[in-house]
This record gives sequence, structure tokens and C-alpha cells, in this order.
Amino acid sequence: MIPYGKQDINSDDIDAVIDVLKSDFITQGPMVPAFEDAVKTHTGVKYALAANSATSALHIACLALGVGQGDIVWTSPISFVASANCALYCGADVDFVDIDEKTYNMCPIKLEEKLLSAQKAGKLPKVVIPVHLSGQSCDMEKIALLAKTYGFTIIEDASHAIGGKYKKQAIGNCRYSQITIFSFHPVKIITTAEGGMALTNDAALAEKMDLLRSHGITRDPRLINEASHGSWYYQQIELGFNYRMTDIQAALGLSQIKRLDQFVEKRQQLAQRYDEILTTLPVITPYQTHDSSSARHLYIIKIDNQKCSNSHRQIFEKMRDLEIGVNLHYIPIHMQPYYQKLGHKKGDFPIAEDYYAHAISIPLYTQLSHHQQDQVIAALKQAIN
Ligand SMILES: *Cc1c(COP(=O)(O)O)cnc(C)c1O
Repeated sequence: MIPYGKQDINSDDIDAVIDVLKSDFITQGPMVPAFEDAVKTHTGVKYALAANSATSALHIACLALGVGQGDIVWTSPISFVASANCALYCGADVDFVDIDEKTYNMCPIKLEEKLLSAQKAGKLPKVVIPVHLSGQSCDMEKIALLAKTYGFTIIEDASHAIGGKYKKQAIGNCRYSQITIFSFHPVKIITTAEGGMALTNDAALAEKMDLLRSHGITRDPRLINEASHGSWYYQQIELGFNYRMTDIQAALGLSQIKRLDQFVEKRQQLAQRYDEILTTLPVITPYQTHDSSSARHLYIIKIDNQKCSNSHRQIFEKMRDLEIGVNLHYIPIHMQPYYQKLGHKKGDFPIAEDYYAHAISIPLYTQLSHHQQDQVIAALKQAIN
């Protein structure tokens, strides 16, 4: 089976992990701050907080922005469930903004329309979480402008997008948001096995997230409310979690980020090769906006039903039968039973649902060979007819 995505681990990565295992600290040693510094250098952001997953990072990001009961958070229905669950963890309500037909990212026009009616109803969101699907940035300039007008804050879910650019600048610089989140799950651009990071330029938000990822505990003399009892002393001043990344993971991340540019270039080359070859097939290839450079986490095609004899589902299953590990990113979140119980309904986000009826993620990862890519294309041809 050719998988849809796969990590790229070399001997340097393995050595880096082994070195930590042989060292004094396998967690909370020097590697976590070193990895955070490397991400800061790559993005140009001021503060970077490593966490044990992007899901944890999204959770503490919402909490740091004050999301709680009675608040509303909006995200895209075409994302992994974690983009929405993070708000539910905080006791807030979640709603969605339908996607753009071409980019499959949150549609800024629909966002503006929804904000207008939410304002009239007195139900404006506190936080909006745009998701950079496949690694292509959302229209952040427009979304940030709406944030000013309607008074919400922004968390960019850039789980797919480390190594990508928006308006020639690194995604993750938080120029258009309060907080940006990366994921380092093995299928993403670089990996720490499990892991994530929250980035911000705001010192107060960074301090808050730092506390929340480690039980709400601090030794910082500026934050504790009485004189130290001795050098063992710490105080718990918030209700936090154990969301820390280990040094073993951070060493892997630090080794991986050295090859980030190489990884992205390879993914972009492979994506371009798909773009060129697939023009002869009845599929819609991923649209790229002029102001973004995608890290190409996923290569999503849409089946043109008018031109295919087989259905979307038949094509998908046939590809799997032919040993091609296709996938579907994503089942619209509002269609999940848990979200239906919360009152979301099928039909609420028609563009997202239409996308779901046509989309297929075909294999894309750094070590995918041209020969394997040709096998994917041959299988797709066979599956279509
Ligand atoms: C992978 C992913 C997450 C969650 O990442 P984890 O590191 O697995 O917690 C969140 N949002 C999106 C869009 C993702 O793709």
C-alpha cells in the first residue's frame, strides 16, 4: 500500500533521539527550548511554546484568549475535529463558517455575512480559528480586518502549514493573528511523533500558555504572591495541565526542522508533477492562490462527476483495492454525531458538504518516488473508468 502520507526519518534524526536517551534529561532538559528557538528563528515569531500535541496547544490557546462558558468560537467545517473540540473543552459553543469553493479554506465573504447577522443577534464569536488546509494560508489579511471590525481574536490552525508562506512571509509569524498552532504528528510536514506548538508575539499570552501547559505552576518571582519559602518553592496560580513536550520529542523536532526547506521543496515538486499529469484526467487539482506558497501537506483532488462513469465512493474504494492509501480530509465536523447532538445539522454548510462528496487525498510525502506517483495516477485512471 502506498500511504497518503509518511514521515521522513534519517540517521541524524535517530542519532539525535539516542543522544537524549543517553543524557541526564529525557524530559524538560535543553532540547525543548532549543526546538522552540529553532521554530522562532524559522517563523520570526517572538514566543514559541512546545506542547505534547497540537490539540493541547489549541486548548491552551483558547484558554489564554479567555474562551469560556457563554463564549462562541467559529472554525471551518473542513478540518480535523480538534480545531473545534478545543473550544468545547473550555465550555464554549462552536459554530462554523462555510468554505470557499476553490481553496476549501474558510470563506472570508461567508465569514463577513455571518458576522453581520451574528452582530444583529448579539452572538458574535470571541475567537475565530481559520485552518490552513493542506498548508495553503487562508485569506488572513481579510480575516484580520474583520477581526478589528467585529472585535474577535484569531488562532490560526496551521497544523498543516509549517514551512509555507503567506504574502512572502513564513506562516507562524502571527502577523495576522494572536496565536498560531503547528502540529508535529507523523503525517504532518515535520514530526516529533506526537507534538505541537503555540506561537505568539504577545508576552502575556505566552506567559499564560506556558503556565497552562505545566499545571499552572511557576517559580517566577514576578508571579508568586509571597516570598519564596526556599529554593524548592513553587506556586500553582492557575488550573493547568501536563501538556509538556519531552526532550526526546524535541530532539527529533530540532533535527527535522533542519530539513524543513528541503521537505517543502520536495513536496512542492511532487505536487507540481501531479498538477501537470492530472490535467488529462477528469479531476479538479488543488487551486493555489497567488499570495501563498503551500507546504503541501495534502494533495486533494476533486472528482468531476459529470465526466466520470464511476461515483466518488467507487473511485475511492477502487483506489484502496489497487493498494493506493487514499484518504478523505475531512468529514465535515458539523456532520459528526457529537456535533449533531449539539444542534448542528446536515445542510448547514452546503459548500463543505459538496466538497466532502467529491474530495480524495492522494499520496504525497517527501519519499514518494516518481515511479510510485505514476502508480497512483495509473490507479486513478483505472478507478475513474
Ligand atoms: C493534525 C491536526 C490537528 C491535531 O494535531 P495533533 O498534533 O494530532 O493534536 C489539529 N488541526 C488540524 C487541522 C490537524 O490537521
